[in-house]
Amino acid sequence: MSVVAAPPWSDGAAARAVHAPLDGDTTADVVVVGAGATGLWTAYYLLEADPALDVLLLEAGTVGSGTSGSTAFGCSAAFPVGPDALARDHGPDDVRALRAALRDTVVEVGGVSAAEEIDCGFTFGGHVTLARSARQAAHLHARAAQALRWEDELHVLDQAGVTAHVRSPQVVAGAWTPDAARLAPARLVHGLARVVGQRGVRLAEGTRALRVSPRAVVTDHGTVRCRHVVRATGASGPGPVAAPVAAVQVPAIATQPLPAATWREIGLARGESFGVAGHVAVHGHRTSDGRLVVTCRAAARAGDTGHRGRLPHAHERLRRTLVDLFPVLADHAVTHAWTTPLGVTRDGYASVGLDRTTGVAWSGGHDHDGVGLANLAGRTLADLLTGVDSPLTGLPWVGHRSPGWPSGLRHLGARATIRGGSWVDRVEERTERAGRVIAALGRDRG
Ligand SMILES: Cc1cc2nc3c(=O)[nH]c(=O)nc-3n(C[C@H](O)[C@H](O)[C@H](O)COP(=O)(O)OP(=O)(O)OC[C@H]3O[C@@H](n4cnc5c(N)ncnc54)[C@H](O)[C@@H]3O)c2cc1C
Repeated sequence: MSVVAAPPWSDGAAARAVHAPLDGDTTADVVVVGAGATGLWTAYYLLEADPALDVLLLEAGTVGSGTSGSTAFGCSAAFPVGPDALARDHGPDDVRALRAALRDTVVEVGGVSAAEEIDCGFTFGGHVTLARSARQAAHLHARAAQALRWEDELHVLDQAGVTAHVRSPQVVAGAWTPDAARLAPARLVHGLARVVGQRGVRLAEGTRALRVSPRAVVTDHGTVRCRHVVRATGASGPGPVAAPVAAVQVPAIATQPLPAATWREIGLARGESFGVAGHVAVHGHRTSDGRLVVTCRAAARAGDTGHRGRLPHAHERLRRTLVDLFPVLADHAVTHAWTTPLGVTRDGYASVGLDRTTGVAWSGGHDHDGVGLANLAGRTLADLLTGVDSPLTGLPWVGHRSPGWPSGLRHLGARATIRGGSWVDRVEERTERAGRVIAALGRDRG
């Protein structure tokens, strides 16, 4: 059977442009650059705040053609920097407020999807993390104690407790959080595009922003004069338009739809997603059409573009990991193998903000947590741009500026940060000893 170099949900409409490119010079109140989850949520909440706003959404490709359309999983309350590290920079009260806002975000995404009749398969199944060594189990205990300090729910499970969610022969313990939902991000972004289009947002696909200036965006199809510009360009960057992120290409695979008997052996019956504990985890979930999809951030390759298709070695390693976790899958085909760009900042922070002098706003650096963060960013940007002084505009990621990557080193640096953790995981699984080098590899995601 041949393997398709794209996600299973991308067949058909997702790749086709529905909206015409910009037709020459124009004006708008707000120009949003990038029609991924961040840009679309921003447009949605701007219109919620003020239905009279003239919002123009510019997209270089098609809606969802960036990371959002090929993301494998769902919405969680995670943030790229762990709460203990955040508290050292911002203090405990700000961190508690951010953690609460992130937990609420999962509920908000489900609520809006239902209210707007966006059929994205939102299922509040939680997330179960598997420990495959005593060291990983100890990590989970430490993380559960940490979660308690920040009012997050993370329940440590013994082997039998894990089995109630998912069955894997090598697992010694686990942990479960309710604050995660499975959904199909591609269907979410296409649904949001439909909703904002019906409310009057103008969408221009096939229109690349070439330069963002105060009160104007120059594109390859004309110049737009505006009061505010929002940069929501995901993993594209850096440059005159995008945030200081480096892109890495993350591999993902999907099995064929699995028979009911196979699912009875694996579990995940309540729509849980799962991960493997460690510094750079493997993640997976069961899709609504019965496939198992799995990805591994640690297998990332450097580069903005160029690996949109298959990375045979990385995908084969991922398939072996999957069979290692679920031996029953040895007899089932992997039908799809693709890569997705991920935007990583040098200090690991995601951020959102508005420069009041220039009128330019942004959100980016969402790393592996962007489905939830895109929604929180959209609500925060709407408050910042409409001048509402809300609890969201005081959260500790607002106004944060990540340092740029040293020129020529950004891809290497991003890849080293991501892949180094996987080496530590392997050492720990084999030797049961903690890798001290992790301290030098990046910030604790906790
Ligand atoms: C394999 C993988 C799995 C993931 N799993 C999860 C998960 O389970 N949960 C989670 O929360 N997050 C996950 N993420 C991360 C999440 O998918 C992203 O953080 C999120 O989708 C980013 O959305 P975005 O709108 O910021 O960026 P994008 O979706 O990339 O949107 C940016 C848009 O801007 C457009 N653009 C760029 N430059 C220009 C320009 N100059 N002019 C006009 N348009 C431009 C692009 O074409 C693109 O459409 C995962 C990521 C990967 C790679």
